[in-house]
Amino acid sequence: MKSDTLLPHSIEETPEYQLAWDVYEQTTSQTPYIRRQIIARRSAASLSFKQAGHLFTTRSELTTIEGDGLRVNLFVSGCQFQCVNCFNESSQKFGYGERYSKKHEKVLLDKLSLPFVDGITFVGGEPFQSAAHLIEICRKIKEECPDKSIWSYTGYLVEMLIHLDEEDPKRDLLNYIDVLIDGPFIDEERDEADLKTYRGSSNQRIIDVPATLKEGQPVEYVRRETDDKSY
Ligand code: SF4
Repeated sequence: MKSDTLLPHSIEETPEYQLAWDVYEQTTSQTPYIRRQIIARRSAASLSFKQAGHLFTTRSELTTIEGDGLRVNLFVSGCQFQCVNCFNESSQKFGYGERYSKKHEKVLLDKLSLPFVDGITFVGGEPFQSAAHLIEICRKIKEECPDKSIWSYTGYLVEMLIHLDEEDPKRDLLNYIDVLIDGPFIDEERDEADLKTYRGSSNQRIIDVPATLKEGQPVEYVRRETDDKSY
């Protein structure tokens, strides 16, 4: 007989699961109940992931589709979320691509220093599962290009990240991020019309991180006015 719930799981007793469940209940109206349970469990379990040993990347290029203005992206390998129809499945593997080195850093900072480049966006994989490495990169950016904004994608929910211990690199990374596009890609919530608002599925939110940290709850980012009418 087909059940509409999964067997009970110990993760469901945790506050992280409750938080994930509450948010997915509110934001994933197109997603069947059982899928929401799986996604909430996976989100809660991934919070205990400590840190990728090394940073691996597949590419870094100029982009206009992963944040306001013209940006440099950095594709970071390794992700535990396993979203159905992930846009970049090969990069779920930790160690995929090239190990990030001084050579990558130079190319990245050279591009970021260009006067017409607005900032950088970290793309996954799951950037927050390589958080300690990205903190080092963010520090370097703040030193050398302090006027450039830092955006990141993440499969985590911002509510989960802000409640982590301050010592957790996933929480610390937030201190360097200006805008976060949060939540896993959920295929049932895919919305082609949203592709120009930087997200793949409508459950994902565009979060103003400094305001969120100040308020202690998610604050939506207000997009910059643009002359480009193709948005
Ligand atoms: S969080 Fe992103 S990279 Fe990870 S599985 Fe989901 S869509 Fe793919």
